[in-house]
Amino acid sequence: MITDEYARTLASVNDRIRDLKDSGYYTFEMPFTAAPGGRSEIDHREVIMLTSGNYLGLAGHPEINKAVKDALDTYGTGACGARLNNGTTVLHLELEEKLAEWMGTEAALTYSSGYMANLGTISALCDGDTVVITDQINHMSILDGCRLAEGSVKIFQHNSMEKLEYILRRNADARKKFVVVDGVYSMDGEIAPLDDIHRLTEQYGAMLMVDEAHGTGFLGENGRGAGEHFGIVPDITMGTFSKTFGGVGGFVTANRDIVEYLRHSAHAYMFNASLPAPTVAGVLKALELMRREPWRTEKLWENTMRFRSGLIRAGFEVLGSVTPVIPILVGDDIAALRMSKELMADGLYISGAIFPAVPKGRARFRATVTAAMTTEDVDRAVELLGDAARRHNVLA
Ligand code: PMP
Repeated sequence: MITDEYARTLASVNDRIRDLKDSGYYTFEMPFTAAPGGRSEIDHREVIMLTSGNYLGLAGHPEINKAVKDALDTYGTGACGARLNNGTTVLHLELEEKLAEWMGTEAALTYSSGYMANLGTISALCDGDTVVITDQINHMSILDGCRLAEGSVKIFQHNSMEKLEYILRRNADARKKFVVVDGVYSMDGEIAPLDDIHRLTEQYGAMLMVDEAHGTGFLGENGRGAGEHFGIVPDITMGTFSKTFGGVGGFVTANRDIVEYLRHSAHAYMFNASLPAPTVAGVLKALELMRREPWRTEKLWENTMRFRSGLIRAGFEVLGSVTPVIPILVGDDIAALRMSKELMADGLYISGAIFPAVPKGRARFRATVTAAMTTEDVDRAVELLGDAARRHNVLA
């Protein structure tokens, strides 16, 4: 029975969404009708794609599609079971072996999503003796993993090494300390100061886990992520196949003991149906292509720098650091939503982030540049954004 209490809970969100829809500026869940390449299609209308995690442009690659189709013929769409039972195929084992080799670690474990990888790994490693310490703007999957953790959770102010050290010092006597951070912050595009964080975790005897969702494939010499960018190796690295790999799924890499423990302790691994084998085959091919086609990484950086400098020249306030995740400050929520809608009509897809996802008055576009974009599309995107910003008077 849906009582008044439940109805009030539903209305607390739905009323706000209804107002947004009534205003005509609801631009979420657009019906895409093509793969997320440099260009895509919304309801069969072509748009330049400036919001996808397809960083290296691998989504929809013909070789990946072929690998997926071949595996589909052999394995079907799903194993109908969890990994520990009937959900493991030779492809799952091959992928884990190749991931470990690529990341230069002993072992790897795949989950059905990056969200599950964080949830499962963090909760399995935090018992009542653990203090888990995390940055305040970490991805929701990390924060939810911390909520599931049995130990106590401490949150430090974004990127404040003083606060992190303070918490580590205050909890020096805790039996286990576990620091979990994003390598690249997904909304702000900054790289976490992993050199300092690693130094502190070594100094205070804490285990370190880094979420490399937005660094895998292009940060660091071998594309291992922000850790490699700083020359450090976290105890646990987490990643997702839903961005650079152009697929879906998540993974962690670590030493053999940690991975073996997670395999038999992480609920999100043990009690969740395994990744479909065709998906695994696609990810295996993506991993091969990432290493075989280094031009993709070069093109990604070239596009990123060109887009960022184009925006700055046009007068935008650009946040973040040098990653392909580029937040563009707009300020007002309604202006951001209106611009987003108009840009879509002009042939550019870029998603806006408004309150409560970001602080009031700090509404922004969150652009993600990819290697699939042509130079012309990068320039055209800057031009369209500039036109919209002038119409709405939001340039600095
Ligand atoms: N961590 C970060 C930093 C992310 O941005 C995301 C996806 N937005 C995830 C984890 C979750 O990954 P997935 O989409 O594979 O569930």
